[in-house]
Amino acid sequence: MPQAKILLWYRCDLRLHDHEPLHQAIEKVQATSGQIVPFYCFDPRQFEQTSFGFPKTGAFRAQFLLESVADLRRSLQAIGSNLLLRQGLPEVVIPALGKQLGITDLYYHREVTSEETAIETALQHALQSLKVEMTPFWGQTLFHLDDLPFELGKLPELFTHFRKQVEQQSTVKPALRSPTQLPSLPALEVGMLPQLADLGLKAPIQDDRAVLTFKGGETAGLARLNHYIWQHDRLKVYKETRNEMLGADYSSKFSPWLALGCLSPRYIYEQVQQYEAERVRNDSTYWLVFELLWRDYFRFICAKHGDRIFRRSGLQGIDIAWKEDWQRFDRWREGATGFPLIDANMQELAATGYMSNRGRQNVASFLTKNLGIDWRMGAEWFESLLVDYDVCSNWGNWNYTAGVGNDARGFRFFNILKQSKDYDPQGEYVKHWLPALSQLPASKVHEPWKLLPVEQQRFGIRIGVDYPSPLVDLFKSAAANETIYNAATQTG
Ligand SMILES: Cc1cc2nc3c(=O)[nH]c(=O)nc-3n(C[C@H](O)[C@H](O)[C@H](O)COP(=O)(O)OP(=O)(O)OC[C@H]3O[C@@H](n4cnc5c(N)ncnc54)[C@H](O)[C@@H]3O)c2cc1C
Repeated sequence: MPQAKILLWYRCDLRLHDHEPLHQAIEKVQATSGQIVPFYCFDPRQFEQTSFGFPKTGAFRAQFLLESVADLRRSLQAIGSNLLLRQGLPEVVIPALGKQLGITDLYYHREVTSEETAIETALQHALQSLKVEMTPFWGQTLFHLDDLPFELGKLPELFTHFRKQVEQQSTVKPALRSPTQLPSLPALEVGMLPQLADLGLKAPIQDDRAVLTFKGGETAGLARLNHYIWQHDRLKVYKETRNEMLGADYSSKFSPWLALGCLSPRYIYEQVQQYEAERVRNDSTYWLVFELLWRDYFRFICAKHGDRIFRRSGLQGIDIAWKEDWQRFDRWREGATGFPLIDANMQELAATGYMSNRGRQNVASFLTKNLGIDWRMGAEWFESLLVDYDVCSNWGNWNYTAGVGNDARGFRFFNILKQSKDYDPQGEYVKHWLPALSQLPASKVHEPWKLLPVEQQRFGIRIGVDYPSPLVDLFKSAAANETIYNAATQTG
């Protein structure tokens, strides 16, 4: 058998554990005494601007990425290999490396969204003439694509239908173990890890108010899992705490590590199962897996529908007359709408790159259902800032919240005031992010515009000066946007 020389192309799968391309590459080279060259490519297009002009990969995410790549390199070095680093277009860099190193195979995890699949298509053309065989693997989800109880084209459009079918008819494959040894690299220039400045970014300032210091990499991801599930025993109360907004442990915070593949969902699943066997099995332990199914669902939906998820009219093709109102959008993104729950969450995002799920749902609803602003502006702002940005989860959730996704329930909006009182009854969260509100009693903190002049004086706040007046009337604005939505669904 001819000697295999496998280029192992890392993308959003920056780990050693449960990595099928790595696992299969080891099997193949063992049979041929060949070589494996692990490789990561910084694609300059990822550091350009989004269509509405935001940095596509902002500083929080870029820093997390650099830390994750550095960690992977260290882990590979520890088992006798290394990570080759290059900057450039993968569809140009990979064929060039193929020629230079005499590569026979390219192993990689396939992606499902257009920017990533366009690269795979370009590579197919470029590598054909070089006789490099491309082998894609499926590896981002809990349930493997091959194990779904339906063909991708028949994937149920509604989450509940999807969930019930996979839960009843599919099983999760076991997670693959990390290798303990790899063949050494051929003699070559391994390449330097870029700095944030090389990517045109400044280091983000660490804010003490952040829920957590997110450190990139498999090592930190596994440590977080150990902290949350085993050391602090938080899994058993996940369902009760997951809607909170303050503190490191109300939810798992696994999302940034999942987004870059530093943690495998199948590994998390196994840890949940082990926890259920050794400590407790309850609604909470199930619910973490339930949430991972949402993540699976959005990835499969993207695989099924291709570019539709990015269209203004969304998965459902509803042509709503969205506004591109920059003045109001700026108030939203700066956290200056006059609605404390929205402002606190948007300020948290800007200061830390993270926001709770409860927060995300409220701010997305407010942007689209109260301000009537093009949901893609919000999705791109999240793309730029979120440390856990995941193309499928982000665009899928935005489709859903904007009412253009496969949510059959029509125009639904969050009553921000009710949400504030339900999820932040004492106003601790809003006060944490909005110091201007710090003196207000819980009964007044979510509706500061109602403060009488004498109360403003007593609590040391001037509405319209220290804290903004509300940008819209909550219910009138929702009613106006509902009319616009209904007009679009009736004509659409
Ligand atoms: C408008 C909007 C945009 C979002 N953008 C992203 C994004 O870019 N990246 C991202 O990972 N999540 C996104 N989410 C989903 C969710 O808010 C985050 O996954 C969650 O807040 C991450 O925190 P956690 O890891 O502590 O979650 P936990 O509550 O601990 O959940 C465990 C895991 O389940 C998955 N999960 C939970 N909720 C969802 C969901 N609604 N959709 C998909 N997966 C979910 C995540 O992988 C998460 O890490 C978005 C939600 C909304 C409403």
